[in-house]
Amino acid sequence: MKSRIYTVDDLQRQEVQRDIQTTFQRGGNVVFPTETVYGIGASALNQEGINGIYAIKGRPQDNPLIMHLVDTTSLEEYVDVDQPYINTLMERFWPGPLTMVFTKKEIVPHYFTGGLQTVGVRIPGSDVARKVIAIAGVPVCAPSANISGRPSATLFKHVLEDFQDKVDILIDGGKSEVGLESTVLDVTSDTPVILRPGMITYEMIQEVVPSVQMNQEVLGEQTPKSPGMKYKHYAPKALLTIVEGNKDDVVAYINQQTKQHHLENQRVGVIVTDDVKHRFIAKHQFVIGRLDQDAEIASNLFAALREMDTLDVDYIYSLSFHQGSYSEAIMNRLLKAANNRIIKVN
Ligand code: AMP
Ligand code: MG
Repeated sequence: MKSRIYTVDDLQRQEVQRDIQTTFQRGGNVVFPTETVYGIGASALNQEGINGIYAIKGRPQDNPLIMHLVDTTSLEEYVDVDQPYINTLMERFWPGPLTMVFTKKEIVPHYFTGGLQTVGVRIPGSDVARKVIAIAGVPVCAPSANISGRPSATLFKHVLEDFQDKVDILIDGGKSEVGLESTVLDVTSDTPVILRPGMITYEMIQEVVPSVQMNQEVLGEQTPKSPGMKYKHYAPKALLTIVEGNKDDVVAYINQQTKQHHLENQRVGVIVTDDVKHRFIAKHQFVIGRLDQDAEIASNLFAALREMDTLDVDYIYSLSFHQGSYSEAIMNRLLKAANNRIIKVN
């Protein structure tokens, strides 16, 4: 198969719109940009398209897909909007990087809910994403566009790496603005529960729904309620270690490890912030942003992990990132990528 590649401007053209619409309707797949990360989409109402997503990504069948809508008009056709706080959340955070998990109605097919009686729904903030869903004319299931286990795609070159000539249509939307996947919030009971942290933070939700809880699974203390959380995630090929502590000790530890690896002819990459970038002896560096710019760090995290794969290093050391309101989401992804390998040096 040869993928058809379109730009955002191409979406204005009628023949492109027709191609996108028929691809969705015939059970094909379309990779498109959203504000969080790129998504690989299929019509929620077409089992063949959904099977395509699972097969192409290599995604486990019990890991459910998020359904994307253009607006809330048809929401209640698909789910029960039965908690009083849901309207407040919709008004405050939609369109945007918040997925809400509702009790599903009968009409929602079982083939993308991982056998659950619930379904995650999101109205993306990205105009381009909403345009693609509007063109599709149906709800669109779109998990992150990456081969399962790899870091999510936040640059179009990541999309090409994973999906060129494996997916019918690829839409180039440049760099993803947010760079981490949506916050997942369970809204099926009388207090909402965060199942996956994201850029809509606990504090932001608490402002409008004070009773919000953080699920124990996020804190690493329980088996996952959100099925996707139990799988290996975001993992680069090399062994990734996060190093935490005061700046001088962290630099010293990483340089000492690097020296040791170099003696064994191993290649080392480091993921560092702007303020310390000149202090590392490792040849391969990815400067992820300024220490106090958490949004910038979030948007570059997956690119950093993928770049390390491209550089073919054997070991990766990353600083840890604890400044700013997005640090929870950043560290959640980074710890998964590192399989929880974190060294505290002081
Ligand atoms: P992705 O679309 O790749 O960001 O993955 C979707 C995430 O949302 C995964 O971690 C899923 O386990 C989670 N998710 C989707 N639907 C549900 C649901 N009904 N209940 C709990 N978690 C869900
Ligand atoms: Mg994913």
